[in-house]
Formats: sequence, structure tokens, C-alpha cells
Amino acid sequence: MPVPLLDVPAQNAPLAGDLRMAFDRVLGHGQFILGPEVEAFERAVADAMDGVHAIGVSSGTDALLLALMTLEIGPGDEVLCPAFTFFATAGAVARAGAIPVFVDVCPVCFNIDTEDARAKVTGRTRAIIPVHLFGQSADMDAVMRLAGDLDLAVIEDAAQAVGARHRGQVCGTIGTCGALSFFPSKNLGGLGDAGMLLTRDPDLAEKARRLRVHGSHPKYHHHLIGGNFRLDALQAALLGVKLPHLAGYSRARAANAADYLDKLSRLPRVATAPPAFCKCARAVEEWAATSDVRLILPTAYAHNDHTWNQFTIRLTNDGDRDRLKTHLTARGIGCEIYYPLTLDEQPCFARLPESSREGCHTAHALARGVLSLPVYPELTEAQRDEVVAAMAEFLESPPHA
Ligand SMILES: *Cc1c(COP(=O)(O)O)cnc(C)c1O
Repeated sequence: MPVPLLDVPAQNAPLAGDLRMAFDRVLGHGQFILGPEVEAFERAVADAMDGVHAIGVSSGTDALLLALMTLEIGPGDEVLCPAFTFFATAGAVARAGAIPVFVDVCPVCFNIDTEDARAKVTGRTRAIIPVHLFGQSADMDAVMRLAGDLDLAVIEDAAQAVGARHRGQVCGTIGTCGALSFFPSKNLGGLGDAGMLLTRDPDLAEKARRLRVHGSHPKYHHHLIGGNFRLDALQAALLGVKLPHLAGYSRARAANAADYLDKLSRLPRVATAPPAFCKCARAVEEWAATSDVRLILPTAYAHNDHTWNQFTIRLTNDGDRDRLKTHLTARGIGCEIYYPLTLDEQPCFARLPESSREGCHTAHALARGVLSLPVYPELTEAQRDEVVAAMAEFLESPPHA
């Protein structure tokens, strides 16, 4: 039985009737740009996220760029961001004209190492972008403390963590701004590109709304230079159909993850890293070596509501990750490396000052060892068992075989 990494049609098929009705409604009224569809979806997201200001935009990437533009971050400014994340996090910083400064990450939760972030602050640092990678919140207590101490803006990249929480607070609504993505593979997937900028600050919200339409206010008068960052009305209407199902999708992902954690932990040389080793690469290395751990399962901290956009494991032996990927692929099981190259290693950032690319050792180790398994909501028990069986088969083979 093939097990794809993601099954978008399986998610949308049960909603086909409602999605077609939304399409017909938009086709009928012909208001394709902003207007009531976008406003209704923004209100629905705001209501679902503790009354934050929600501004519909063209993508998660543009939400990040719009946040930076709204905060007037640009040439001469430095922005701290993790080295281990999707490219857009740092791409947006560079597009704003600022310098991304890459920060190492935690070997347990994969999120930004706030101690390394503090060490990399300079007189030019304006903001920090914690990424809630794979659906689990970054250490927002430490991020907000650091930002408060040094007067930095906080832009949460919650692209992979729509609906996740940190100590009960919704990810994306804790910092100065938050960015959501509705790319089809994200937890709330649209039928194309879409995103949302969140902020609790009414003045920033107002400014972002203007920048979304070229800085126009009133119409055809421009005190600011913005861009076209608009969310399509059609996409807003379709996402409005899917939003009420988000909590169910998240529950299904969490149940799939729990099932994997239970079944995979019974296999030989498989374990979950203790949460106490958060941010300590050496503790994890020593624990893995002394306990003879070959495969580390993902850790979800008790204070986080993890939304499991990805279920990401880590292989500790050199070359094991690539062999496992080959093994799973040969058995028709989808899997992917998020991410094979860290951001400080990207060729396009080679021109950045050396100081913005140093000391990301844990990020490099993760890029060599991680692999993400299928965890999408529609995954069946039989499919999960197929994945577990293939993993068991792999672990019977000696490392370096
Ligand atoms: C997907 C993603 C983005 C970009 O979102 P798009 O909607 O695809 O532009 C940004 N950051 C992270 C961490 C992502 O996973």
C-alpha cells in the first residue's frame, strides 16, 4: 500500500460541495479583489485567534515581508532568525534590504536557540523571527524576554503552526507580528497561495493594510511605498470553508503523531530526547551515545500545543538518514528532508558578512540527520502501520550496511 507524504485531494474531497458553493458565490458577485470575502475570512481568523488583527495577504512569505516593511526594517538593520527553517524566513529579511543573522537551534525541539540569539545581538539588531518549526512553538518566554531587554520587534513565523499554542497563547499573536501561511501543505491549506499577517497593535494593523495596497491612502495618494500583497477573494472564500475543520485536522495530526511515538518507541535503539536537554546539543549527543540511540523521535513539550505540520525524526549515525530515505521510498512511503541545507549554507547568502553566518553547529547536524514522515490528518491506521513496519525493517539492518 503506497503511503504518500501528503494527500491534498483526500482532505478536500469531503468538502467539494461546499467549496463549489463558495466558488459559485464569488463567481456570481464578481468582487475578486479584497471586499466582503476577505473581510469575512479575516474576521473568522481573528475570532479563532483571541481577537488579534488579521490581515489577509498573498502568501506566508509576503506576510513576513509585509511585517518587516510595516516595522520599517530595512538597509543597515540586522534581524535574528534561525539557521534551520524554510528559506522564506530569511529571504523576506534580505528582500526588505536588511541582513539576516543566523542563529543556531535546539537539538530537541529544532527551534531558535535564544541564548545564541542573545550572543549575536549587535547595535544594529532590530528584530528577531522565531519560527514555530514543524508545528511546535519556539521558546516564546525566552524570545519575549530577550526582545524586551533589548527593545527588539518579534515577528513570529507561524507558517507551519497555524492554531498551535504556547502556554495557552496562540502562536502568531504573542510577538509584535505573526505570519501564517495557507500553502496547500500547511495545516490549513488553501487551493493555492495565501497567507495572513497578525498583530495586536491597531496602528501596525492599519499601516499593514495600507502597505498591502501599495501604501495607497486615500486611494491614489501614497505616503508609503507598499506592494501588492493582497489575498484573493476566491482564496478567502475557499479557506473560509476549511477553517472550521482546522481543529479537527490538528487533532487527527496529533493522534497520528501519538500513534507513531507509541509504536516507533518500541523498536530497538529508538528513543525520545528528554525535554531537559532543550538547547543543549552536548547533552543530546552524550545521551544518544551512552544509551546507544540510533533514531531520535520528536519531542513535544507539555506546555505547547504542537500541531504536527511535520513528524520529524533524527538519525544519529552518519549516512543512516539517506539510507532510511532510500529504504522508505523503495517501499512506496513518502518522506522528505526538511531541510537538507541550513540557511547559512545557502549560496545566495554567501555574500553576507561572515559574522552573520557563524556558529550554527546544531543546525548543520540536524540538516544531515532529519527526515519527515507522513503525518497528514487523513492518514489511516493501516498506512501508519505500514510506515512503522518499514521502519522496523530498516532498524533490523546494521548501521553502515
Ligand atoms: C511555508 C513557509 C513559509 C512561506 O509560506 P508561503 O505561504 O509558502 O509563502 C515561511 N516560513 C516557513 C517556516 C514556512 O514553512
